[in-house]
Amino acid sequence: MDNIKSEIASLKDEVINLRRDFHMHPELGFKEVRTAQIVENYLKALGLDVKTGVAKTGVVGLLKGKEKGKTILLRADMDALPIEEMNDIPYKSINKGVMHACGHDGHTAMLLVAAKVLSHHRDEIKGNIKFVFQPSEEKDPGGAIKMIEEGVMDNPSVDKAYGLHLGNMIPVGIIGIKPGIFTAEADEFSLKITGKGGHGAYPHLSIDPVVISSHIVLALQTIASREIDPINPIVVTIGKIHSGDVFNVIPESAELLGTVRTLSKDVAKTIPEKIERISKNIAKAFRGNAELDYQFGYPPLINDPDETKFVKRIAERVVGKEKVIDVPTSMGGEDMAYFLEKVPGAFYWLGSQNKAKGLDKPHHSAYFNFDEDILPVGVEMHTRIALNALK
Ligand SMILES: [Zn+2]
Ligand SMILES: [Zn+2]
Repeated sequence: MDNIKSEIASLKDEVINLRRDFHMHPELGFKEVRTAQIVENYLKALGLDVKTGVAKTGVVGLLKGKEKGKTILLRADMDALPIEEMNDIPYKSINKGVMHACGHDGHTAMLLVAAKVLSHHRDEIKGNIKFVFQPSEEKDPGGAIKMIEEGVMDNPSVDKAYGLHLGNMIPVGIIGIKPGIFTAEADEFSLKITGKGGHGAYPHLSIDPVVISSHIVLALQTIASREIDPINPIVVTIGKIHSGDVFNVIPESAELLGTVRTLSKDVAKTIPEKIERISKNIAKAFRGNAELDYQFGYPPLINDPDETKFVKRIAERVVGKEKVIDVPTSMGGEDMAYFLEKVPGAFYWLGSQNKAKGLDKPHHSAYFNFDEDILPVGVEMHTRIALNALK
């Protein structure tokens, strides 16, 4: 074991205890008050310059190396989810209806301990490390874009950014990464279809929003098949249709909710016009009306090819070459994307699933929990990425 590995091994209890404390006291996005206070105290005790209240509850710690140089950003998200925890564990959530079901408790704990290790190596660092503890990743609009608007990339200006996510779909100890598009853009929309209600036996006296909706659902599929170049993956899913209550009444209106997943911002931009044109004109053809409400979500997360290679090299050193794998693009969204729109960098999965220990439930499940043995590995990844990026 080299110095850094043994140093981090001696902090294993500390990173686990921090994680369990966050797990027991989960807080929703932009309400991470207690978490932010612990982060602030911890970073101040290390002698870092600490900024609080960035994007409401965000915290930024700046570690200045002995010599001047580049600045890198390491990011962790701090928020929990509105889920009632079903795990029977000593550190179960005590906040009713709130749970760390995505692993952000682990992210926060790992980055704190990495800050501690790196602060011990200040003399070897040429440049600065910004430790960014971000509020609200789960709910769009999240904390990343707000932190950027409030200047997190400036003073000193950030050259590169790195982050990780625990992954219960990947066995513990495996690190997954890919260059290019890592996560998708995930947008949401709702359609309100208005007709004219009436008796089910006299349809000619009504305008039926159910029939109009049915045509629209089918026609929206032609966005993928007829309107977008087939080399660009796109999903248009209607996840909810609601109209009417009984068998013999033509309802007044219908509501459709849907999501659009794309891997390119340029494609994503064109979608609202298509949904609106198709829906409005179909509704019009059948004497009804359609109103679209479209919300753009997080952009696709793009890993810089060179930075991906760099992180891969570090990962091979930390967990061994055979444990670093290429992963497919995830159709999920992640607001780390905003940092990586500004500067090159990379984001990767840190496998945390352990079937033998029963720790294999999916993220956002009320039974989610991960193998804590991975926490020192994440600390080492952050630490070595920082030290090597500033070499
Ligand atoms: Zn999540
Ligand atoms: Zn997450």
